[in-house]
Amino acid sequence: MPEPEKVVYKRVMLKISGEALMGDQGYGLHPPTVERIAREVQSVQEMGVEICMVIGGGNIFRGLQGSAQGMERTTADYMGMLATVMNALAMQAALEGLKIHTRVISAITMNEVAEPYIRRRAVRHLEKKRICIFAAGTGNPYFTTDTAATLRASEMACEAIFKGTKVDGVYDKDPNKHDDAKRYETITYDEVLAQHLGVMDASAIALARENSLPIIVFSLDEPGGFRAILDGTGTSTTVVA
Ligand code: UDP
Repeated sequence: MPEPEKVVYKRVMLKISGEALMGDQGYGLHPPTVERIAREVQSVQEMGVEICMVIGGGNIFRGLQGSAQGMERTTADYMGMLATVMNALAMQAALEGLKIHTRVISAITMNEVAEPYIRRRAVRHLEKKRICIFAAGTGNPYFTTDTAATLRASEMACEAIFKGTKVDGVYDKDPNKHDDAKRYETITYDEVLAQHLGVMDASAIALARENSLPIIVFSLDEPGGFRAILDGTGTSTTVVA
């Protein structure tokens, strides 16, 4: 068998959904799960990789749910953004429990809780090997944290976005329902958009395409999965041009 290709990244963006933090509870935060993910991040940091993170808020509140129940959309979206701040603080606490230096950087000013987003300052944190957790999405309603992750990854000059999910890549059909589902090694942004493959929402994919930012879809449920992708031994799908 050929040696797995070694991919060396200097700076990456890890995007996870809020739901990744809720364990089997179906809602909110499950501290052992948050800790487990923090250890996955730690193992990548130990490789010398600079890490940015964006965590969604879907385990607590999603704007679309709120507006479907009659709440005004922008208010519901601000609530969703605040949910991402809670998740970011939970992840910060877990990482600090592992003695890792972190900063929570919020797109909505809340100085008592998190740093405001100042690009040059965030870059400096990364250079000093602090993990930057970008919270409150883009700070604007009608967006998602997928778009926030793509935006911040572009601003921070990350080499790739790592999208941690429950499956180890993008399949032609649902691998949980079809035994013959085929995982793509690579797929293009246009194919993802045309086939509505649900890797990330369309605005995030379009932004990644414009900035030639690869999106690597991998399983965060797999122990050691994040590190395995970075050292070239894991399975994933890369979305490229
Ligand atoms: N949100 C927003 N603007 C942003 C990012 C997020 O309004 O730039 C809101 C939106 O209501 C969204 C919620 O925050 O539903 C939680 O984010 P998301 O749905 O992306 O979380 P995930 O699905 O990744 O857990």
